[in-house]
Amino acid sequence: MNLPQEMPGARVLVIEDETDIRHFVRLALESDGHEVTEAATLERGLIEAGVRRPDLVVLDLGLPDGDGVDFIRTFRSWSSTPVLVLSARSAEYDKVLALDSGADDYLIKPFGSAELLARTRAHLRRRHRHAGGDEAMLRFGNIAIDRARRRVTRDGDLIHLTPIEYSLLLKLTSHPDRVVTHRQLLQELWGPAHTESSHYVRVHMGNLRKKIEVDSSRPRWLLTETGVGYRFSPEGGSHQGA
Ligand code: CA
Repeated sequence: MNLPQEMPGARVLVIEDETDIRHFVRLALESDGHEVTEAATLERGLIEAGVRRPDLVVLDLGLPDGDGVDFIRTFRSWSSTPVLVLSARSAEYDKVLALDSGADDYLIKPFGSAELLARTRAHLRRRHRHAGGDEAMLRFGNIAIDRARRRVTRDGDLIHLTPIEYSLLLKLTSHPDRVVTHRQLLQELWGPAHTESSHYVRVHMGNLRKKIEVDSSRPRWLLTETGVGYRFSPEGGSHQGA
């Protein structure tokens, strides 16, 4: 793993009502050099978010005074800071709703500190990159996307993509490490009338992977989030293929 030379400790806001989990998250993040603020309620979370201007928010969805999704909707009205949601395994619907509302990623409880820190680093890195502005050329592995000329090449050789495949690739790669839901892809690529037609996405994603991935049955770049959507891994994830 190669981190940028200097990624100074970030300010992380942890909104979670369960004391044990909150402390666990705090200790893990502090061990990685981050400065942590805790909030146990939605109301407190919103106040701290406004005052502290965190670089990342770790958010539990089930809070005593409201739903974490409401936090996301309010927060997104004025901030693009990454939000990492903590979700119970049973709360599939809530998790997708949170992502559709503007969360970036989720962790299923119980999770380990290594996983938490890996996700944290990925989102802080993305934020770092974003600060540098958008670049016309995007590269990963031996693939290059020339966004200005709408051309995709592998080792310099042109890859022929359909307009939908290109849009799909562009949408995912424009949000590295972020989970993009089926609904978000459908809404953007096919329009609001097709937000339930997730088989559209699957078919075109299958075709896109055959052109982009070395082994489309074990994707490294365009990863599946089962039942949720897809994630572009700029580092080349190696854990998929189950
Ligand atoms: Ca809770």
